[in-house]
Amino acid sequence: MFDDPKPCPFCGGKAPIIVKDVQYPNTPNARTWYAIECNACDAIGDWDLGESGAIEKWNTRPGENALRAEIIKWIEAGNAGTALINEQRSVIQAQGERIEQLLNIIQAAHNTFTQGGTDPSDDDVISVLMAKILEEALT
Ligand SMILES: [Zn+2]
Repeated sequence: MFDDPKPCPFCGGKAPIIVKDVQYPNTPNARTWYAIECNACDAIGDWDLGESGAIEKWNTRPGENALRAEIIKWIEAGNAGTALINEQRSVIQAQGERIEQLLNIIQAAHNTFTQGGTDPSDDDVISVLMAKILEEALT
């Protein structure tokens, strides 16, 4: 038993039929050739001396198979790209949260100095910032 013919690759017709052509009819050399023909658009496959060979030729589509393999490759690459983008999005989000924490530290340090009403030196600012960053890092 052999496979059924696949749908037509040109129009999608789902009921291709087997057609026959007898070569040298009514002679000792008579041979029957078979092919698959789409009954919707009349596309015809390669001829073969057997029905199963004709079906195999109709069903063998190296271009279609290569295209499917290419599409699968692109889908997998797309999935890998999406995973990478999501991973990078998480990294960027974590960095954004860290920057927000550091801005809060700087804002807190600024508030400390402005409450005192004095004009702090750079060393004072740096030491307070370092203390707050260390305090934040250790929590
Ligand atoms: Zn067709």
